[in-house]
Amino acid sequence: MDLKQLINEALKDQKEIFGDELLEKFSFEEKTVYRTAEPDQSFISEKKDDNMESNLFQEDFEKSETLDELYDTIHTCKKCALGESRITFVFGTGNPDADIMLIGEAPGAEEDKQGIPFVGRAGKLLNDILAAIHFSREEVYIANILKCRPPNNRDPLPAEVDKCRPHLMKQIELIKPKMILCLGRVAAIELLGKKLTLSKLRESVHEINGIKVMATYHPAALLRNPNWKRGCWEDVKKFRQLYDEMTGKK
Ligand code: URA
Repeated sequence: MDLKQLINEALKDQKEIFGDELLEKFSFEEKTVYRTAEPDQSFISEKKDDNMESNLFQEDFEKSETLDELYDTIHTCKKCALGESRITFVFGTGNPDADIMLIGEAPGAEEDKQGIPFVGRAGKLLNDILAAIHFSREEVYIANILKCRPPNNRDPLPAEVDKCRPHLMKQIELIKPKMILCLGRVAAIELLGKKLTLSKLRESVHEINGIKVMATYHPAALLRNPNWKRGCWEDVKKFRQLYDEMTGKK
């Protein structure tokens, strides 16, 4: 890996934890310290109030009653430029009646080729994480904030999220999971509409449309930073425990 790639990956990892906050330098009693710039509380992507929308303005995909119908209506989507550059539309995979949904950021190169989320090394690690808390990949449902690959694995643009998020929300409405685990900061902030650091997001159990939502590290970030695996393990143990409590399994 060349130096430029190394720097890019290090910056991506910083961003994974701290988001867009900048570390500012200021002097305090002759010592130079670094503090984070004020967090930007602005809402990342505008949320629509679904109740305000009359049936007249409903898009076709919103009328879908099954995941298959939803797939049929959206898999040729060209609402953003990623629709032109993608190889495959990565809809999502797993159990359509899953209690648990896992949500990542966007397909990578391998996912774009195969049309399946989380394949490759990060996918293998994700399977191991699931197995460690006694879930199989087949019993959960896995999807992403974006259904098409952003070039060079860059972060999703707000306009892309605005176009694609409603598709994911419809998927969630049809699957009706009891709990959602967001993989990485981008997935969590875009799903929850809370522009916080991953450390902050990991501290609480959030809720969206009555569904409990938790966040942990992205598996690709764990591959680059194995020392974050301990924190991920704590998160997923908590996730499993809450699931057991909610379903009366413990
Ligand atoms: N990273 C993601 O966020 N999603 C995938 O599907 C693959 C890699």
